[in-house]
Amino acid sequence: LNSKLPDVGVTIFTVMSRLAAEHQAVNLGQGYPDFDPDPELLSLVNRAMLDGHNQYAFMPGIAALREAIALKTTQLYGANYHADSDITVTSGATQALMTAILACVHPGDEVIVLEPNYDSYVPAIRLAGGIPVPVALTPPTPSHPTFRPDWDRVRAAITPRTRLLMINFPHNPTGAVLNDADLDALERIVAETGIYLISDEVYEHIVFDGVPHASVARRPALAARSFVISSFGKTFHTTGWKIGYCCAPANMTEEFRKVHQFMVFSVATPLQVGLAVFMAEPRHYLDLPAFYQTKRDQLAAGLATTRFKVLPSPGTFFLMADYSAVSDLPEAEFARWLTLNHGVAVIPIAAFYGDPHAATSNRQLVRFCFAKRAETLDLAIERLRRV
Ligand code: PMP
Ligand code: GLN
Repeated sequence: LNSKLPDVGVTIFTVMSRLAAEHQAVNLGQGYPDFDPDPELLSLVNRAMLDGHNQYAFMPGIAALREAIALKTTQLYGANYHADSDITVTSGATQALMTAILACVHPGDEVIVLEPNYDSYVPAIRLAGGIPVPVALTPPTPSHPTFRPDWDRVRAAITPRTRLLMINFPHNPTGAVLNDADLDALERIVAETGIYLISDEVYEHIVFDGVPHASVARRPALAARSFVISSFGKTFHTTGWKIGYCCAPANMTEEFRKVHQFMVFSVATPLQVGLAVFMAEPRHYLDLPAFYQTKRDQLAAGLATTRFKVLPSPGTFFLMADYSAVSDLPEAEFARWLTLNHGVAVIPIAAFYGDPHAATSNRQLVRFCFAKRAETLDLAIERLRRV
């Protein structure tokens, strides 16, 4: 076969999870909880199956779930998405990202991604015939210890061929979040250039230290040109259900659904029925920051007793740590070494760069997932103390 993605191998998440399983390592690599969702959600989905919700859902998603999403985005962000015309339920955020990209990127269009970026973005852009244009996030400094976007660099990368800018805050893998000034800068860029946005907000409910999530849906001028994507996997501890959604204005949703209907047609019905009821209780997502902040603090405090140096993580269920006091190995080799020799699997940050080799030159960072039971984190910390 003449490969359409000649440079793409098996995704790092599969590589590291397989390695972790083979070596009985504690898996703090791939981002998923090692605990179950709320039993109430499980029984709602069970009941939906027993009540006969087992056939194709309506193509854009069942009305009750789209209405629940519309209500939530209004209550949290003051957004004005209509359930009928602006919201589509997808098979996870991954499908929503691919669908949005295929719906709007034409061959030769440039798409800006902020590096490091989630690993599905660039292959999806390439499959659509687009040209990925990486713009580096500004690395941490002593006065600003998290990665952050440099909007002047983003602005400078925009050409007449730029169709889309892809953003992802809270950011995987760095944990960076946006603030109001960032949204102001984005508004100016969109007003000046007329580009479209994909805002991957799968960690929208996992922002720490009492900071509100800066969704692009808060700003009408941004919402008017954005596909805003989220995932129930992250919010309700159900990554294996592969269910998420995309909010976008009617004209953009119309194009999105043209692709969606021939990509998956519709998404698992009983999951939608159960989630629609579960979502109606805001506590089910509003409790998430406190829940995960405890885990972040447990892992960060544990790592502080090792030779890893933790970088602050204001959002997501990941944190990064520098291992330069432990090893000179490049990131991917270090991640493998740590799994095999110390029984803890992590993700090399190099996997989030288009050219992993160029990117590793001055960095020795790995990502830890803390969506784990306290015992799991304790076991990992105990092992990491011996590194
Ligand atoms: N975007 C980001 C930034 C992610 O971290 C993930 C998943 N972990 C996804 C998209 C994919 O989400 P889903 O599992 O709902 O497809
Ligand atoms: N998004 C998850 C992560 O960053 C993994 C999802 C996947 O394995 N495709 O770890």
